[in-house]
Amino acid sequence: MILAVSKLKNPSSPADGYRGRFAPSPTGPLHAGSLVAALGSWLDARANGGQWLLRIEDIDTPRCVPGADIQIQAQLRACGLFWDGKPSYQSRRQEHYQMAFQRLNKLGKLYACSCSRQTISNALLAAGIHTPRNQEVVYPGTCRPSQPTPYSDELLGDSKKAWRIALPENCQIKFEDLSLGMQKQDLNQAVGDFVLRRNDGLFTYQLAVVVDDAQQGITHIVRGQDLLNNTARQIYLQNQLNYPTPSYRHLPLVLDEHGEKLSKQTLASSINTENEKSALAELRIAAKHLGLHGLPDGDTTIAEWLLAAAKAWRINIAKYD
Ligand code: GLU
Repeated sequence: MILAVSKLKNPSSPADGYRGRFAPSPTGPLHAGSLVAALGSWLDARANGGQWLLRIEDIDTPRCVPGADIQIQAQLRACGLFWDGKPSYQSRRQEHYQMAFQRLNKLGKLYACSCSRQTISNALLAAGIHTPRNQEVVYPGTCRPSQPTPYSDELLGDSKKAWRIALPENCQIKFEDLSLGMQKQDLNQAVGDFVLRRNDGLFTYQLAVVVDDAQQGITHIVRGQDLLNNTARQIYLQNQLNYPTPSYRHLPLVLDEHGEKLSKQTLASSINTENEKSALAELRIAAKHLGLHGLPDGDTTIAEWLLAAAKAWRINIAKYD
């Protein structure tokens, strides 16, 4: 199976109604890296007269920090990055993920997997495959039945097993990233049959994000390059579920002094939004990282500065019409 986005339903153009989103995981406050994703996606939406939604991706409950969602919202407001409508929460949308999961099961696309990390790494080692640190482990297909068929609802409810999607033999995904150009990924080589529901019963980010983007009518996804490697999986799932594929733009990552992506694990510090001056200083750093130049650098309000930034974005970076 070879999927190219041009063969899928066309991403909607802004004339059809641009809808973008910012989808932070509430694992801590915003840091310089997540502010770049927030600002880039906000500017892209506003520069094109579109809507910008806020989705709190709290699907991986063990990783969520209580109160981080509220803190993120306060930081966005302090930066003048107001969203449309109410924020949505993945933790409240389980039944939608369940329905998509059942649909995939009916199509005979799923299978149960009882492999532990250790079993997988032993199988890979036995096959002479060594996975470098920071690289995705490719599932070797240990539990895959020769011909996956639909499971009964009762078996599908087994939440002690992980559930994987059975990829076709040839599964190349191609898409045009609006910043990075043509991207290609062979899903069998890059990740193998990936997990949609974990063995603790939680649906994974890959399934939840695809269901949410489709149900919220998202037309443009603007996010950090750390997520680039996930995009082919998401396009594949969109295609299986008969959802449209949005357009994608992946933004440059902010790295720390060791060349690592800023994250809670690398102890990234929170942005400072205690007053308008400090919030504006954070926005200016983020804009520079996004390659925006010539913005007002003297005394100005956040609202004025954002207006100028949206204009600069539209002229220099992302004019869709
Ligand atoms: N929740 C993801 C994160 O915070 C972002 C998901 C996305 O934008 O698709 O890294």
